[in-house]
Amino acid sequence: MLEKPRVLLKISGETLSGIGKYRYGRQALNAITAEALSVVDQVKLAIVIGGGNIIRGAELKEEIGLKDSIVADYAGMMATIINAIILQDVLEESDLEVRVMSAIEVKPVAEVYIRRRAIRHLDKGRIVIVAGGTGNPDVSTDSAMVLRAHELGAKLVLKGTKTDGIFDKD
Ligand code: UDP
Repeated sequence: MLEKPRVLLKISGETLSGIGKYRYGRQALNAITAEALSVVDQVKLAIVIGGGNIIRGAELKEEIGLKDSIVADYAGMMATIINAIILQDVLEESDLEVRVMSAIEVKPVAEVYIRRRAIRHLDKGRIVIVAGGTGNPDVSTDSAMVLRAHELGAKLVLKGTKTDGIFDKD
């Protein structure tokens, strides 16, 4: 039997809010769930999640003039973890099996991201939500998208934005 390809989907934080004024929109979450359900039998799906609906480092630095700007980036990375556990719960409502793996250790809510474990989860048909970005400040979750896609050997990278824009690249 042909091996299912690994696919990496990047979902920005704003995608979770959809058109509403809140951090999360039920319709947007349902749309993501529908997408996941439609592909999960054909591909091994990893999702890199953003945090922009809660905190973007650069915006927070500006907002309160933080002296230690690195802190704002860590706050942004924590925001991605919040999004990850919420998305996990929503996807599991539809009986999808989902694991959250974080670049920053948050033991009670997520596994630590370990490449080989991530691949194992994917092989078992679980969706892996990659949280915490790269774990390093000064970059965005788009960097995490590229990094994780490379190390997980993703055959296809899709990026979901608020404007429904999708691109793929190798
Ligand atoms: N971030 C970071 N390192 C990373 C990923 C994210 O410092 O590897 C911080 C950064 O401040 C960023 C915030 O986390 O603004 C939220 O991520 P991002 O802006 O990429 O979310 P998105 O726009 O995709 O929702």
